[in-house]
Amino acid sequence: MKLRALLAGCAAFLMLTGCAASGAEETERTFFAMDTVMQVRVFGDGGEEAVQAVCDEVQRLESLLSRTQPESDITRLNQSADGGTWVALDGETAEVLDMALRYGEETGGAFDVTIAPVMDAWGFGTSEEEYRVPDGTELAALLPLVDSGLLTLDRENSSAWLETAGMEVDLGGIAKGYAADRAKAVLEEAGITSALLNLGSSTVGLVGGKPDGSPWRIAVRDPADESASLGTLALTDCSVSTSGGYERYFEADGVIYHHILDPETGYPAEKGLLSVTVVTDDGSRADAWSTALYVMGAEEALSFWRQSGDFECILCRSDGTVQVTEGLEEAFTAEEDGNGYTFEIVRR
Ligand code: ADP
Ligand code: MG
Repeated sequence: MKLRALLAGCAAFLMLTGCAASGAEETERTFFAMDTVMQVRVFGDGGEEAVQAVCDEVQRLESLLSRTQPESDITRLNQSADGGTWVALDGETAEVLDMALRYGEETGGAFDVTIAPVMDAWGFGTSEEEYRVPDGTELAALLPLVDSGLLTLDRENSSAWLETAGMEVDLGGIAKGYAADRAKAVLEEAGITSALLNLGSSTVGLVGGKPDGSPWRIAVRDPADESASLGTLALTDCSVSTSGGYERYFEADGVIYHHILDPETGYPAEKGLLSVTVVTDDGSRADAWSTALYVMGAEEALSFWRQSGDFECILCRSDGTVQVTEGLEEAFTAEEDGNGYTFEIVRR
């Protein structure tokens, strides 16, 4: 939190260049974007230009997709929610909205980017962190605004409109994943074959493997302990996204309220999960799926996994069980002492 504040305050970045064990030159940069601390590690020649290109790309996307920057596409869309105004958007904003709407349908509404009015009611919407517990009446009045069906997108003309005044779009559950995809593309265009992108601790993008060809090792955090992990994933060339109630929450009268909301109730999703980690090729999907599976709960999440066939996941349940889907059996190594959890491989 301190580093985040420091980086946000002075827009500073840290840059390091050195040699990895394999002899490949390593360039590393830490910067603040999308309300989080991000880190890029690039191996091989041309690293400095490549990390700069990643920073530029993420900042460019933030200036389109943020709902707190006054000039962004999403801010303009949100400010025009009055039942009939088409808002012209950058083609890429339209592309992200299109994906978000599709993911909303595919997850049966568990993922819903029109969640913003309810996020705001809890105080999660702003970076000022003015948390509060809205009462049932207030939430009931806001819930009709949470409805992706009232967000109309014209892909061809890159424009959209929000049907009801008070509606707002929040891309917080997908923007970092999309940024990871774009950042990976930028690195690949620059000829980089080995890189690790950490766009906030919960969104990881992998280009290739380590410089020596071995897989990257990605720790899966123990939801109960910031400094401990459930285990490690050995992966190459894919995206990993984790959603957990621990990422952002507050406590009021002994109750914990976190930032992943159930669009059906307007309350923080409490379906017996502490965290969900999703591994797939595509960063946007990994990001949206991890949020959506958290909202669904373990049973529904696993039946979604059984039907989908294009992602793998790790579910950390509040009963102390960690369920790892079979496609990650080889890649995942649990902490030696188990950290108090029971591990289980889930088969199709
Ligand atoms: P993080 O941003 O902490 O990595 P997530 O990817 O799970 O975690 O995204 C949580 C963010 O997604 C929230 O801060 C909010 O912006 C948005 N969000 C919350 N609930 C939902 C939901 N049901 N559907 C879509 N987006 C959501
Ligand atoms: Mg997400």
